[in-house]
Amino acid sequence: MQNITVLGSTGSIGVNTLDVIARHLDRFKVVALTAGNKVESLFEQCRRFAPDYAVLRDESGAEKLQILVKKAGLTTQVLQGAAALERVAGLPEVDAVMAAIVGAAGLRPTLAAAKAGKRVMLANKEALVMSGSLFMETVRRNHATLLPVDSEHNAIFQALPPSFTGDLGAVGVKRILLTASGGPFSSTPISELEHITPDQACAHPNWVMGRKISVDSATMMNKGLEVIEAHWLFNAQEKQIQVVIHPQSVIHSLVEYVDGSVIAQLGNPDMRTPIACALAYPARIEAGVQPLDLFKVGTLNFHAPDLNRFPCLRLAYQALQRGEAAPAILNAANEVAVANFLAERMPYKYIPLLIEAVLDKMSVKSVGCLEDVLDADRTARACAEEWLAASLPQFAAGTAR
Ligand code: NAD
Ligand code: MG
Repeated sequence: MQNITVLGSTGSIGVNTLDVIARHLDRFKVVALTAGNKVESLFEQCRRFAPDYAVLRDESGAEKLQILVKKAGLTTQVLQGAAALERVAGLPEVDAVMAAIVGAAGLRPTLAAAKAGKRVMLANKEALVMSGSLFMETVRRNHATLLPVDSEHNAIFQALPPSFTGDLGAVGVKRILLTASGGPFSSTPISELEHITPDQACAHPNWVMGRKISVDSATMMNKGLEVIEAHWLFNAQEKQIQVVIHPQSVIHSLVEYVDGSVIAQLGNPDMRTPIACALAYPARIEAGVQPLDLFKVGTLNFHAPDLNRFPCLRLAYQALQRGEAAPAILNAANEVAVANFLAERMPYKYIPLLIEAVLDKMSVKSVGCLEDVLDADRTARACAEEWLAASLPQFAAGTAR
């Protein structure tokens, strides 16, 4: 029996995780569930899984949940705030933690799970992008097990030999081929990208996901973050990571070996596959996923990404090259840009402009400890807000560059 904490249980990954767990209640016990502010959804999950702990971001949400839990006669203890997230990620009775909070908010609890030596199932790529070497060092020092849930990284993990311990050369790997669907705008004329609405950006052709990662997929910042994620997870040099546009999202990534072999992992685009893989590793469990019908798929296409169409991908490569705090700055600027776009305060096409402006403006400091990462995150957010305040009147007047 594995005891599980699900961080971000009401989100897209969280819900899919609980769907897989519900199929195997003989293997998994849910110890803690956490959410931002979705009280009703978290309450329904508490009813279904009877966790020992449920955590909400703020006090008002926690108070509401407390009332519902009490009325329903559940024994779930309701907690609140950032410290409680870290606590449930590191509980001694917990074996594995699904890190599925979106964005920088997931960094501390995910690190807490690593510090406590847990099996960390990583969906929250932003946490690793921000803290890179610090995160990997925390995993190593505390003998945590890091299992990638991001579909591409899970595919690479599956295509690598079990003997891989961080040296790609030692197991004969030449390159990693990271596939990308290209998102909803891969063939939209660039001139039309100006008027994209949040709903259009979130309508991904192959995957149903949370709104932040959906926008990241449209700009391809998601792939940029994933290049950085792959760098840290697999100790791959930037030139060893090739992004390949593959519109069908059937091949989830590939590993190329020195003898010319290329090993791919295929499947329907359904996150329950990588989630189940991480939950049960090294065993395999049923995940509720439709079998892949290759006759129906018929054709698989591949082409190179166009960095003019997707400047966010170029910016992510540059941040990886600069190293140190640059990926944390990139991530923070992107989070501010996406939030403002989703709130309809900023046009879609300004997302890369904002990120580039912040990267240009900020000096990249070295990263020695968590405080350095958090400082880069805070400063980059402030810088992004400043840029926005100066540029918003120009957006309105239509004179922004
Ligand atoms: P989502 O927006 O659907 O869910 C996010 C979860 O985090 C929710 O439970 C939300 O309540 C919680 N949350 C948000 N802000 C919070 C805060 N400040 N404090 C505490 N909790 C907070 O997002 P998602 O699509 O499930 O993605 C989650 C993570 O997984 C992201 O990092 C994303 O990049 C990654 N990921 C998602 C997918 C996918 O298919 N959805 C695929 C690969 C990777
Ligand atoms: Mg992915």
